[in-house]
Formats: sequence, C-alpha cells, structure tokens
Amino acid sequence: MKPRQTRKIHIGSLVIGGDSPIAVQSMAATQTRDIAATRRQIEVLEKAGADVIRIAIDSEADVEALKELRRNTDSVLSVDLQENYKIAPLVAPLVNKIRYNPGHLFHLEKHKTIPEKVRFIVDSARENHCAIRIGVNCGSVDPDYKEKYKDDPIEAMVRCAADHCKLLDEMGFADYCVSLKDSDSAKVVEANKRFSAERPDVPLHLGVTEAGLPPEGIIKTRIAFEQLISAGIGDTIRVSLTLPNEEKGKEIEVGREILKDIDEGRFRSVPENFMEGMNIISCPSCSRVENNKFVELAQDVRKMTRYAGKYKLTIAVMGCRVNGPGETDDADLGLWCGPSRVNLKKGTQTLGSYSYEEIIERLKLEVDRIIAERYGAVGMNCP
Ligand code: SF4
Repeated sequence: MKPRQTRKIHIGSLVIGGDSPIAVQSMAATQTRDIAATRRQIEVLEKAGADVIRIAIDSEADVEALKELRRNTDSVLSVDLQENYKIAPLVAPLVNKIRYNPGHLFHLEKHKTIPEKVRFIVDSARENHCAIRIGVNCGSVDPDYKEKYKDDPIEAMVRCAADHCKLLDEMGFADYCVSLKDSDSAKVVEANKRFSAERPDVPLHLGVTEAGLPPEGIIKTRIAFEQLISAGIGDTIRVSLTLPNEEKGKEIEVGREILKDIDEGRFRSVPENFMEGMNIISCPSCSRVENNKFVELAQDVRKMTRYAGKYKLTIAVMGCRVNGPGETDDADLGLWCGPSRVNLKKGTQTLGSYSYEEIIERLKLEVDRIIAERYGAVGMNCP
C-alpha cells in the first residue's frame, strides 16, 4: 500500500489525513426534526463504532432538533447544509464539520457570487473551530462546470473541487477535505485519482454514492475503495447502502471490514459477470426521504427485475424530490419518491407518477419495452 501524503486536519477530537487511521462514517437517514427517531439513529451508528455521524439540516426546525441531539451525544457530528448555506452560522456551534455541496450554492441569493457564499460558510466554520468538507456529487455538479466540461463529466467534478480548494486556500482556511462521489465505481476511482494527482495535500473522503442494496452496493464500493486506498488515496470513507434505519450500522461494519481486508492484503475478487447485466442504483436515504416505503420499494424493484438480470440496463431508485429528478437522468429508467406517489422516468423524460402499489407493475412494462427495443425479447414474466 502506498503511504498517504495528505495533511492532517481536525474534526473535533478526530484527526484525519496523513498517517491517521482511515475514519469510517455514516449518515442519519431519519428526518432530523423527528428527535426521537434521529436520536435512535445516532445510537445505532454509535453502537456500530462510527467515527463521524452526519446529519442533514434544511431549516431552523432542524437546527432546534440538532441542539437537542447535540446535548445527548459526544460523537463527532458533521452537518450537511444541502441547499441552505445560510444556516451555517446556526449549525456551526453545534457540530464539528460542515459539508457543503458546491453544486447547491447557486440556489439561494442569486445576486451573490459563489466566493461570497463560500466566505460566509468559511467564516462560520472558522469562528466555531469546525472543519469543512467540499462535497462534489455527480448528480448535482455546479451547472457552470457541467456546461464547460460537458464532454468530460469527471473533469467537471475535479475542476469544481480544485477551484473550491483554491478559494478556501485564498481565505486562509486549511481544515478542509474533499469528496468526489459518483454511483459508478470506475468514475469514483478516476475522479479521485485525478484530484489527488493535482492536490496530494488535501484529505479525501471516499464514497460510491447510491451504491444500492447489499450485496451489490458493497461490491461496487469495495471495487472503488480497494483501488484507491491501496494507491494511498482516501482518509475517510462511507459505504452508502440502502438499508432500513435500524440496520444502518451495517454501513460502518462493512466499511471496517473492507479496510481490514485491504490492510491485510485480502482483495476480494468481483463475482464473474458482475456489472455486465442489470444495474440497480439506489440512494442510501437521508432525512429527505419522502416515504418510509422507499427501502422496500428498492428491494421490490430488485426482486421484480430478476427475470431480466442478464440485460444491460440501469434502474435508479431515489428517495426524494430534491435530488431524485437530477440523479435519475443518466439511468435507463428512474424512480424518485414523493410522499404518496412515485415518479417514473425514462432517461430525462418523465413518464408519469404512480402510487406505491402501482409502480412495480408500471415499471415492469417499461423494462419489457426497453428489452424488446434493444434485444428483441418480449413476453417475460416475473417468477
Ligand atoms: S436522493 Fe434524496 S433521500 Fe436519497 S440520499 Fe439523496 S437527498 Fe437523501
């Protein structure tokens, strides 16, 4: 294994980067304002040994809940600002790290420049001794970079992350790390390798976003982590799996297993034909999930599509209306969940919205259609 060359940064009592142990983190999948459920989620992750627990904050009601949650835990907490960067000064005193997504900064206060908004977050973090993660995600890349590098989406992510690092450097803020996530393991490897070649000093948080249900989600993540960590890239990790809330600790357990295997030189071979046929992507869910039936829906999609497993088709299942529409664009068929309806897409085209009871049958129709169009096969039934 190549030694890591990143600088060390502090996230509360945790040190990441350089020769520090690789930290394993996860995220609460509950609605943050549901204090009892989120407290339970934190307990589940603490029990599993999470080094950092991330919580999403969207509103002042979430901030109030966070105050209560902070009173009940000593864990290292990270907060996800999502679209609301203006909430940074309210959450910074309560947490140890702030994650902002450069692709979400344009939503609010369009008259302000991106550097002005970044400075606002940096000032809040600095005053409260918080670290920052610049979290770039394939499904929500800053539209300017997406347009400029439309022939090379990986470069769009890398350039965006590198430019934000430069902004933080110019502001004299050093306690930051970066993540470049995609649902495709190969793209995660490529993006992180390119970034690390340019900025070997910046600690990296690794993850394959929307890896999906176990065991496929674990295999996709393992493929990326084995290649990157053995090359000395990666200071913290998250295994994003679609799991019921009570089983979220599995993300931590799996993360530690992968790290142990890599450390001991045990590289798991990928099953023969893995990723050659049907690929189901599903998000790990978070506070934005619109209906708790989401995990069951992802499981039902996998069950229903087994009959078509040999056909190369990507189906994306996302838990909410915020990231769901964008993050399903690249899939052959996409489902994103609302409170009582599930929206069905074919590529970027919306086909309609259906109840949770109707959607599987409707999806099967589209799967059959695509298979008939591409492969000339028809009339297959669920087992
Ligand atoms: S798609 Fe929505 S619910 Fe799923 S992880 Fe992303 S923000 Fe959360």
